Amino acid sequence: MTTIQKMLENNRRWAREIRQDDPDFFRRLARAQNPEVLWIGCSDSRVGPERLVSLPMGSIFVHRNIANVFALNDLNCLAVLEYAVDELKVPNVIVCGHYGCGGIQAALEHSGIQPVDLWIDQVRMVFQKHREELLALDREACSRRLAELNVYAQVHNLCSNTIVREAWKRGQELNILGVIYDIHDGLLKPLGSEIRSLEDWQAFHEKIGLQP
Ligand SMILES: [Zn+2]
Repeated sequence: MTTIQKMLENNRRWAREIRQDDPDFFRRLARAQNPEVLWIGCSDSRVGPERLVSLPMGSIFVHRNIANVFALNDLNCLAVLEYAVDELKVPNVIVCGHYGCGGIQAALEHSGIQPVDLWIDQVRMVFQKHREELLALDREACSRRLAELNVYAQVHNLCSNTIVREAWKRGQELNILGVIYDIHDGLLKPLGSEIRSLEDWQAFHEKIGLQP
């Protein structure tokens, strides 16, 4: 049996078992989605969000790309954010980076003009901003620290965006948190505290030394 045939078989078994446990499950989910969180994470196969935080299907609106970048010039990122915040009224946003990230490693090791290289230029910009701190570290520590700094930078990008700022201005609940996942022990570590307002964001960027 091929991998894809196995996947299809797994799917049929999974759907059957769900229907046996909860006959109304798919009817309920089909009516509408009401996710509690927008998850911006890395495409890495080891960091799928539902499993990491044990939330059921329908709870997480997901955007993933290499090195969990929230790029202000990327229509995909912006469309996901707009739909999540303005339409679904998702009250929480998690930006999740992870140690051992291939995108972070690639940003440290090489550059070029292939699509991946161009994408992770955004991580290289984070490296350049913190070059002095990072170059003082050994290879492993540098990679881990850049993964953290990249999360801070993407949280910063997110909070700089008009969609988020307008939501806060009109009093919509929107809590934003950066976290880092350790693939060695399965634990998520918060980076800073939740940003829930323009005032919180002001305090956040003063703390990490970035301008709004
Ligand atoms: Zn990664």
